[in-house]
Amino acid sequence: MNLVFLGPLGAGKGTQAQLLQEREGIPQISTGDMLRQAMGEGTELGRKARVYVDRGELVPDDVMIGLIGERLREPNTRRGFILDGYPRTLGQAQALDRVLEALERSLDAVVYFQVSDKTIIHRLGGRRVCRKAAHIFHVEFHPPRIPGRCDFDGSELFQREDDKEETVRHRLEVYHRQTEPLVEFYRSRGILETINAEAEIEDVYAALREMLRARVESR
Ligand code: AMP
Repeated sequence: MNLVFLGPLGAGKGTQAQLLQEREGIPQISTGDMLRQAMGEGTELGRKARVYVDRGELVPDDVMIGLIGERLREPNTRRGFILDGYPRTLGQAQALDRVLEALERSLDAVVYFQVSDKTIIHRLGGRRVCRKAAHIFHVEFHPPRIPGRCDFDGSELFQREDDKEETVRHRLEVYHRQTEPLVEFYRSRGILETINAEAEIEDVYAALREMLRARVESR
């Protein structure tokens, strides 16, 4: 399945994409993780991106479009992918259409994770991410077995710079202004599926699986 996960920061897109990758083998493509990796390695892309990411702004479209175009051409996306955090603007969505058309592929569904701003602020304050592979935990809702250590690889858990409250509020504004219009963009194409992302992780996952099953059966 070729999927886009759409929704605000902290809606659980990354968590659900990781579960779907682990359990169903569909590769997760997180542009946020790709940028953080480039920033960690200090590559040219990383240096360009850092100014925007740390301030909670969007990285310019031309940079993102180039990045995702390359990634989608890699062989491990042939049997499906989950785009997590892309597209975030109308320009990016149109560019995605062009890349997929060139690859003779199309989106099966765009999953919209619906959740309130209040929940998001509460969730992100407690979010912790592992240094090694960006596995996601939450101090309250999804704590690691050993505090401060990743369950999967034992690496240190830390709070992302852009998960600090002031930056979160700014990122939410950016989301409502630039990314939310994509909900209507995909709804009008008839491929939008809305998920209640207020629910607990396993309940959201169950709803997601059910929705995907129904989509596959109706093909
Ligand atoms: P995320 O991990 O998806 O929340 O992404 C973290 C940050 O990376 C965002 O706040 C943006 O600064 C940047 N970023 C990730 N994906 C995109 C994208 N598709 N377009 C622009 N900026 C992005």
